[in-house]
Amino acid sequence: MGIGRRFMQIKSLENALLSTVNPLLKLLIEKFDLECDQDGSLLVNSLKHFLGEEVKFCNSCSHLNHMMANPFYRIGSRLLRADTGFMRNMFLGQEYSDAWLKGFALMMRGIRKYGIRIPFTPAGPFEIVWNFTYSCNLRCKHCYENAGGHRPELTTDQACAAIDVLSRIANFGLPALSFSGGEPLIRRDFYEVAAYAKRKIPYISIATNGTLITRDVAKKLKEIGVDYVEISLDGATQKVHEDFRRVPGCFEKTIEGIKSCVEEGLDTCIAATAHKENLSETSKILDLAERLGARFMHFNYVPTGRAKKHIHLDPTPKERLSLMETMGQKLVDRYIEAKEEEMKTGKTNISLDRIFSTCPQFARVVKRLSREKGENYTVPTHYAAKKGVEAAANFIGGCGAGRLYVGLEPNGDIKPCVFFPTNEQTKLGNILEDSFDHIWDTNDLLWELRTREKLEKYKVNGHIVGCGNCKDKYICGGCRARSYSYFNGDLHGADIGCILNEELWKEIVGQRISEIASSH
Ligand code: SF4
Ligand code: SF4
Repeated sequence: MGIGRRFMQIKSLENALLSTVNPLLKLLIEKFDLECDQDGSLLVNSLKHFLGEEVKFCNSCSHLNHMMANPFYRIGSRLLRADTGFMRNMFLGQEYSDAWLKGFALMMRGIRKYGIRIPFTPAGPFEIVWNFTYSCNLRCKHCYENAGGHRPELTTDQACAAIDVLSRIANFGLPALSFSGGEPLIRRDFYEVAAYAKRKIPYISIATNGTLITRDVAKKLKEIGVDYVEISLDGATQKVHEDFRRVPGCFEKTIEGIKSCVEEGLDTCIAATAHKENLSETSKILDLAERLGARFMHFNYVPTGRAKKHIHLDPTPKERLSLMETMGQKLVDRYIEAKEEEMKTGKTNISLDRIFSTCPQFARVVKRLSREKGENYTVPTHYAAKKGVEAAANFIGGCGAGRLYVGLEPNGDIKPCVFFPTNEQTKLGNILEDSFDHIWDTNDLLWELRTREKLEKYKVNGHIVGCGNCKDKYICGGCRARSYSYFNGDLHGADIGCILNEELWKEIVGQRISEIASSH
């Protein structure tokens, strides 16, 4: 029997199993997904109790915990072979426990509402990226927001009202909010709004070009409680970076911005968009990040906004794969080193969250590279790798657009991911005018994005290709924003940047690149 056929059979079995298990699970979770006037969320409190925290329950909660929640967590963690040590570390007593607990609660409420799905859909996003302003002091070729010019944005009061809405998503609230742009630091009220956000949302980050970050600015970011700073750098040399960012002198300022953040003790990450003109520099940027004490995030080229005009910069599938392998190899080597150290000494300080990527195929490449070394390790897309998460890769599931996160526009419009263009089809509603929870539960476009079985297959030169034909679609799914761009608004098309879809790339890219760029 062919691998493809066997895989389909396993999937059908899984689906049959889920259709039996899901109604039961929904019923069970419903019994303890309750808000107690005295104790707060029983769902969260019972998890803390299960993991060893001393929790005071009222009589009614104590009874439900004993009869329902505790057996549920005990049996569930055994069946899923969950790493309870990892859970204890993440959910109890560390700086970001609150964000992890909110994420967990959203996941459980998601199972209660929609059942277990592969990949899963929580009851609200784990993260929202907010393009806080259209203004920018650079003119980058790849800007997905097409920043610059004046368009209506939320006022300070409206921005705070939007944060109030986010802090109530699905009653649990949003775990993580990222301010992006344009250049978020250009808005004079950035500190006021970000400080307000930090009081309501446990994890706050900023994605910036870094040019406005002096030592004083870094201090201020630290003071208001920004947890993570992501600074874009697209070249290890001035020429490559500035050719792309198109403002002379910005390289030096960005490097200074990175240094200031690191010196201030902020969790700092260099974000590099890989494109044809900087591919030869990406290893050097990786080294630079290491030298400067910053993490490294690869941003996948997505032809949206101004990037569509420069679509010829999109790396070929082979070029993208080679980059993924360079990063993936470093990560797998770190994983093995950490594992060996742990076996010898019982602990390790080698962290795996130094390199990550927005390219969903990264999960597949890391999985393959780790198998080649006899390991069973992979990474979730967009998020820093954590040891202990790999077993849930199918469940976490690659592209998170409209599932694990959404994008917010400066005027409060909601869309599935910031890399989608903003138009009537992709606008899901407005954060101040529409009910977020209702959109999340019912919007058709969101459910289209959440259903991997709808991904398309294509016959090219006698071969079947496309994300719909891929056995890794549950850990990857292809970048839906890239499909949207290359296939004129098709949410289920192939991600032609993937090596498995190379035939499709060859077939369409020549004609499409000139067509798309000229139509822009
Ligand atoms: S074919 Fe699609 S789903 Fe499969 S690995 Fe490539 S991009 Fe991901
Ligand atoms: S569409 Fe998916 S893979 Fe692409 S950038 Fe958005 S979340 Fe990431």
